Amino acid sequence: MALILNNEVVLRDERHFHPDFLCYRNIPSYRTTFVSPTAFDLLKAWTHPLTVEEARVLFTDSARTHGESVIGGEFDAFVDQLVSEETLEQASVGDYHSEPLWGLDYSVPNTPVRPMRFPSKINLTLTEGCNLRCLHCLRNASPEVDTSQDLTTPELANLFDQFNRGGLIALAISGGETTVRQDIIDIIDLLHMVRAHTEFFTNGHRLTPAIRTGLVSLLARKRRGMHVHVSLDGGTEESHDWLRDRHGSFRRVLQSVEALVSDGHLIILESVLTPRNLDTIPELFEMAKHLGVRGLSLHPASFTGRAKVNPVSLKQGDLLVAEQLIQHLAEQYQENFKTEFKWQFFPHPANDKTERAFLASNVSEAGMFHLGLQSDGSVYPCTETIGSDGLTIGNIREQSLQDIWHSGRWDFYRGGWRLEQLSGCRGCRLDGNCATQACRCYAFSTIGNHYAPMPECYQSAAELGIGGGPTDVVRV
Ligand code: SF4
Ligand code: SF4
Repeated sequence: MALILNNEVVLRDERHFHPDFLCYRNIPSYRTTFVSPTAFDLLKAWTHPLTVEEARVLFTDSARTHGESVIGGEFDAFVDQLVSEETLEQASVGDYHSEPLWGLDYSVPNTPVRPMRFPSKINLTLTEGCNLRCLHCLRNASPEVDTSQDLTTPELANLFDQFNRGGLIALAISGGETTVRQDIIDIIDLLHMVRAHTEFFTNGHRLTPAIRTGLVSLLARKRRGMHVHVSLDGGTEESHDWLRDRHGSFRRVLQSVEALVSDGHLIILESVLTPRNLDTIPELFEMAKHLGVRGLSLHPASFTGRAKVNPVSLKQGDLLVAEQLIQHLAEQYQENFKTEFKWQFFPHPANDKTERAFLASNVSEAGMFHLGLQSDGSVYPCTETIGSDGLTIGNIREQSLQDIWHSGRWDFYRGGWRLEQLSGCRGCRLDGNCATQACRCYAFSTIGNHYAPMPECYQSAAELGIGGGPTDVVRV
C-alpha cells in the first residue's frame, strides 16, 4: 500500500534563519513538528506515493548521507506518528504527487540577520470599514472610512495563491470589520483554497445566515484548521457596551457566539482590558465556560488610533495585578478552555518560551517571519503598525509578496540597529532583558522615533526606574 503526504502539510526548511528550524506543520492538527534532516528528506520524498518499505530504504540512505545514526525502531515510530496524525494518508490510484513543498526553493534575503524565506505568519486586514466606532480602535475604523481602495476579490485570490506558494503557516484575517465587505461571502469561499491555519476575526455584529453557511463550509474544508475570534470586552454588558460605544452590543455578541459554537466552530474570545472592565474578569471567565469557547485571549489596548485619545489604557501596576488574577483563573478553567494573556507592548521581562527565543535582542518578529498587510495592499512590518505613515515596505499591487520580502526596507528590522542606540532605555531595570525592546516599528508608529522606548514605557517610567515619573521623561 502506497502512502503520500496530504495537501494540508507545509514543509519549512529555514535553517539559515535558525540551525534547528526544519519542520513540518500539519495545519488541521495545529501542530508544528521539528525534525532531523533525514526525516525532512523523507517527508519531501513522500510528496510522491511511496510504500513504507521504499521509504525505509530512502530513510536509511539519507541518514548515511547526513551522518545521522538511526536508532532501532525510529523509522517505524516516525511513520506511525505521521499516519496517526493524518500527515500521511493512503495514496489513491492515479496520485502523482501532493504539494507541500511550496516555498522551499525560494531564495533567502541577504540581510544582516537572515529571515525566513517567506513569512510564516501574516495578518491581513480586509477593510478599514466597520459598523462600529469603538473607543479603543487601533485602526480608527468606522462606517465613514473610504473603502474604495480595498483589494478586490480577484486580487485577494492572487494573494492567497502567493500565500500557498510561499508556504504560509498562519493567516489572520481581520479589519476593520471583516463582515461589512460586500463580497465577504466570496472571500470566505476563496479562503477554502488557503492552506494556512486561518484565524477569522469579527466583532460578532453581522453574522448573517449566508455568512454562517459560508463559515460552516469553510470549517468542513479546513477540518479543524481554523478559529473564529469574536470580541467580548469584559464580563458585563456595561463594560463591553461602553468600549464598543453601542448599546446592546454585548447581548448581540453573546447570541453570535452561541450560534457559532452550535455551528461547530472553535471560538476564541478576544477581550480588551480597560480600567472599566478589570473587575469583571472573573465573570468573563465564567461566561467563556458557559459559552463553550475554545480560548480566551486578553490584552490591553494599544496606544494607537482612537485608543490614544480615549481613557482605555491601564497603569502598569493594574496590569500586573490583572496578570496574577488571570493566571489564577487560567488554571482554574484550564479544563474548559485555553487562556492567553498578551501584553507584548507593556514593559516586562523577555520570555524564552516564546518565538522570541529564536531572535537576537535587536531583531524583531516583523520582517523575520511576520508581516502585516493593509486592505489596500500595502505591506507593513507587523499587525500593530498597519497604516502607519513612513513604515510601508511595499504594495502587492506593484510587486509580488516574495519581491517585497526581499526589499532593503526590511534591513533595519533584520538586525540593522544596536541596543546601545536605545539611549532612552539606559537605567531601566529591564534593559537587555526586555520583551518589547526589539519592537522598533511600534515605537516609531506611536512616538515617531525608531530608537525611543514605547509609550507604555513612558507611562510606566516611575515603576520601571527610568525617571521620577511619567512626566519627567521627555517624549520625543
Ligand atoms: S475595534 Fe474592531 S469593531 Fe471596533 S471599530 Fe475598530 S475594527 Fe470596528
Ligand atoms: S525602557 Fe527600554 S528596556 Fe525598559 S521596558 Fe521600555 S523598552 Fe524595555
